[in-house]
Amino acid sequence: MSRKTLTMDDRLGAYLCGFGVREPDIARALREETARLPEANMQIAPEQGQFLDFLIRSLGVRRSLEIGVYTGYSALITALALPENGELVACDISAEWTAIARRYWQQADVADRIRLHLRPALETLHALIDAGESGRFDFAFIDADKTGYAAYFEACLKLLRPGGVIAVDNTLWSGHVADPAITDEDTVALRAFNAARRSDERIDLCLLPVADGLSLARKRA
Ligand code: SAM
Ligand code: CA
Repeated sequence: MSRKTLTMDDRLGAYLCGFGVREPDIARALREETARLPEANMQIAPEQGQFLDFLIRSLGVRRSLEIGVYTGYSALITALALPENGELVACDISAEWTAIARRYWQQADVADRIRLHLRPALETLHALIDAGESGRFDFAFIDADKTGYAAYFEACLKLLRPGGVIAVDNTLWSGHVADPAITDEDTVALRAFNAARRSDERIDLCLLPVADGLSLARKRA
């Protein structure tokens, strides 16, 4: 019963989301608006949002990075969990999707905590490193293009303080990472990313079967 992770069927999934998740009203409203978009599946799951909230508060995060904003759900959850003087540097390339995000950040009164950079995330991260921001962030959430994950991880690791945590989404990729017959570039990139993290001595590591797989990496001193 408890020596392996539960397989989630639709009934248990509905129980988890319906009963097991606390979600702020503003986040639910954003999720419902996003659900009408064809790309709605890109948004993190509400139980994952709750976990991010828990993690950010528990770690006492003040400065955070987000790679991949979309309509702003995970950034909204993050900003709500930050203290009043907290700051989220958010990276995306879509003005259209992040316009929805900005609307909800304003409604939630957290827009002043979020600095959105609309350019390729790696450029923003390298600009932060060049500006002397290395070691000055507490948390990062990586959830953009999967072939970019390895480079985002390296840059985020530089920007994090020792003890800081990087959360990386989709690391189980619908189970495709475990099927060697699947060789599209996203799957190959995620498989290589997971393998590299497994032997990465710079971090403590935990791969959680939450939603589509969430890897947590804690930067060692
Ligand atoms: N974390 C978001 C949420 O909870 O709703 C979902 C992010 S979605 C899976 C991925 C996002 O990454 C998209 O909004 C896309 O525009 C963005 N993206 C793709 N390539 C990027 C790049 N090179 N730099 C920055 N953002 C990128
Ligand atoms: Ca994702």
